[in-house]
Amino acid sequence: MVKHVFVTGGVVSSLGKGITSASIGLLLERRGLRIRMQKFDPYINVDPGTMSPYQHGEVYVLDDGSETDLDLGHYERFTNAQLDSDCNYTTGRIYKTVIEKERRGEYKGKTVQVIPHITNEIKAAIARIATPDIDVVITEIGGTVGDIEGMPFFEAIRQFGLEIGKANCLYIHLTLVPYLKAAGELKTKPTQHSVGMLRQIGIQPDVLICRTERELPAEEREKIALFCNVEPRAVIEERDKEISVYEVPLSLAANKLDDFIVEKLNLTQAKPLELDDWREMIEHIRRPEHEVTIAVVGKYARHHDAYKSVYEALFHAGIAHRTKVHIRKIQTEQVEKEGADRVLAGVDGILVPGGYDKRGIAGKIEAIRYAREREIPFFGICLGLQCAAIEFARNVLGLADANSTEFQTDTPHPIICLLDAQRNVTAVGGTQRRGAYEQQMVPGSLAHRAYETLVVSERHRHRYEFNNAYRLAFEERGMRITGTSPDGGLVEVIELATHPWFVAVQCHPEFNSKPNRPQPLFRDFVGAALSYRREKKTSRSAVATVH
Ligand code: GLN
Repeated sequence: MVKHVFVTGGVVSSLGKGITSASIGLLLERRGLRIRMQKFDPYINVDPGTMSPYQHGEVYVLDDGSETDLDLGHYERFTNAQLDSDCNYTTGRIYKTVIEKERRGEYKGKTVQVIPHITNEIKAAIARIATPDIDVVITEIGGTVGDIEGMPFFEAIRQFGLEIGKANCLYIHLTLVPYLKAAGELKTKPTQHSVGMLRQIGIQPDVLICRTERELPAEEREKIALFCNVEPRAVIEERDKEISVYEVPLSLAANKLDDFIVEKLNLTQAKPLELDDWREMIEHIRRPEHEVTIAVVGKYARHHDAYKSVYEALFHAGIAHRTKVHIRKIQTEQVEKEGADRVLAGVDGILVPGGYDKRGIAGKIEAIRYAREREIPFFGICLGLQCAAIEFARNVLGLADANSTEFQTDTPHPIICLLDAQRNVTAVGGTQRRGAYEQQMVPGSLAHRAYETLVVSERHRHRYEFNNAYRLAFEERGMRITGTSPDGGLVEVIELATHPWFVAVQCHPEFNSKPNRPQPLFRDFVGAALSYRREKKTSRSAVATVH
């Protein structure tokens, strides 16, 4: 029998439910259990693919091409759970299925209602990933208890729990225990209210994870346990983390959350917790030996979650080099207004991430020119590759009007354009080249050196492609095509031969990075930034000695 853990949140949003769920996943995996993870998002969009990163942060892309919530990124970074389109459902997607069934006459003349039809569809989505090869399914409900739009999901997990029985499911509720400075104490009332609300809809939580700024004293713990009707040992403190979110599993383990889950769900097959390598990694994070500053130049730099996986991948690359990576988030318009010289002064590497639409393109191109001319390590991702190609065409090949047809349909030099097959696509949602595709590297290239293999699979999410008509001109002037699709037809990687580390890729390698297994290109980019910084220092001290 597959066991189920449901994670809900209360009091306020942004408590880190995704990271907490991912940490629970990690602990269970580190007890030798086979897990799957799933997130329900109560909004009505069918998937987050069409939403601006300003809404819910980045859109996270899976191997199968699904466009999902960024919490699935946390699941992948913390665990090895297999993720696919069954692992992220929105209200819109559930309703779409029900409405399509209704149109096909599958409800045989019945009135179609939230209960039971919508809730049945939600329960089916939970059951779908509870396959016999799995020990525990962790399902996270987005939003906060009490939200109108979350109601059907809460009702569905209540029914699901009732059907499989107490011994097979566990409800974990994440709440906030705020510290009131004026009173000088931690306040448990919001937690009591939030649990009260859960109980009103028929869910008695088994575990309360309390986000706090301060230590949760035994007294407060007991008070929460008593008022909320849970065991005192099931009131778990999750203190704010200053250095990194990867410490959350250690806190939960210190509070013996894994023991509690294993005991309550009678997971007799569980092994002792194995976290040594993770602890060692945390030690490396706490005590870096070097530092570098990387500029991330993007249109959404102001939103701290818009390039979440890019920032995380840089962080992971830093761990591999025992280096603290300072990220300078730069709005593209800033480069346009103040000039690359000013906003990029002192950085050791420049990264241009993915994006859409022509706003901010000029700033990205300027930042790339700066990196190319000053020989600062550069890493371009997706739109970053496209901008690097446009910059090269304009400033090196002398094609002043070079552009992408995404930004100028009638450009005389469409360096980036649509493939014939894509010309007639008009729908906005779900119409791009998405998901994992293999790519082949040129032997001896920086990409090959990073991957240490010639064929790799990376995730994609884009519509436009490098125009093959310009390949030769690029190669002749030193911009090498060092990665292509296996049939050679699509350009995947470009590198500047005359530059210490200038690599741009059409894929999104940031979706393949874990703290204990950095993505190779990110790792080498940060390595190049580190060498650049060292050389800068040496040449500065050489100048000082001469004087
Ligand atoms: N807008 C570009 C395209 O559609 C790049 C997309 C991206 O960076 N994800 O091809």
